[in-house]
Amino acid sequence: MVSAAPRSGTGVRLLRGVEIAAQVRETVSADVADFRSEHGYTPALAVVIAGRDAPSTVYLHKILDGCRLVGVEDRLVELPDDCSAERMSAELAALSRDPHVAGIIVQQPLPREIPLRAVIDALDPARDIDGIHPLNAGLLALGYEGFLPATAHAAVELLRRSGIPLAGRRAVVVGRSNVVGKPAALLLLREDCTVTVCHSRTPDLALELRAADIVVVAAGRPGLITGDMLKPGAVVVDVGINVVDGRLVGDVDFASAATVASAIAPVPGGVGPLTNAILLTHLMRAARNLAEGRLDAGTRSLHPAPSALGAGG
Ligand code: NAP
Repeated sequence: MVSAAPRSGTGVRLLRGVEIAAQVRETVSADVADFRSEHGYTPALAVVIAGRDAPSTVYLHKILDGCRLVGVEDRLVELPDDCSAERMSAELAALSRDPHVAGIIVQQPLPREIPLRAVIDALDPARDIDGIHPLNAGLLALGYEGFLPATAHAAVELLRRSGIPLAGRRAVVVGRSNVVGKPAALLLLREDCTVTVCHSRTPDLALELRAADIVVVAAGRPGLITGDMLKPGAVVVDVGINVVDGRLVGDVDFASAATVASAIAPVPGGVGPLTNAILLTHLMRAARNLAEGRLDAGTRSLHPAPSALGAGG
């Protein structure tokens, strides 16, 4: 698969997650070393995968490589394709009892036999560093500090760290999934944007987009957004990951968008590389919370006993 970052050539600014990710990883590496000398162990990130579909395997290896780069322990738990929901729950409960495991990620898509609900019920929200548990989703919706879905967090962090002004600007998010679109919209709202969320039933996507200063696209539809749909000077963050003719592409038609937008986070090289680095910052926050017996400010009064959520310990 070809995965070279697009070149601008048009004067459009490229928002490169690769460079920001390297800075974030440097900070995390130092934090891991401090943590080890303070607590005498290295925190672990557990990645649970049931069955192997090609895209999630690629993503999985990137997570494991990221762990090694910053010196955190990685625990890969590989379950068979025909793994039952009970077996998955038992694995998650065991990981949640391990004091060294600070973060747990369950790779999606799940096998058909395992409903997402079964995973969520068994996942300790204090170790849910990719923000899939309803407690963390609720904290985000209410404006408290829980764990954010890493991709949405990376998309907004890329804008912030690139110095793109957000407060008071009109943002359109294309996509309303629980993992990307909805949390990205809530985070932009937190940044004081005026936010519109579009989806497959939005009658006139271009009409919405032409009013937007900031566009975040997470639809999984290659070429969905073209330059003629954008407001001149818009800042575009392409979150889509698609493979077309063996090439990795986003949801935005880069060539036409680059003639209209002022800045684009491209695919590849934009949000993707930053996502894993952001995930590691979540891991270290979880590790400190667990090791120091503290919950985040927002979760302190809202965090139910783990047993009430079926977390098993
Ligand atoms: P998803 O669950 O399939 O959601 C896609 C969303 O896009 C849905 O809300 C859907 O609307 C909307 N949509 C689909 N076609 C549309 C159209 N023609 N016009 C407007 N909206 C449309 O996907 P996801 O998990 O959010 O992922 C979205 C993309 O991000 C995928 O390409 C995925 O691979 C990528 N991704 C990237 C990262 C990363 O690290 N960069 C991480 C996760 C995902 P409805 O709700 O109406 O169906």
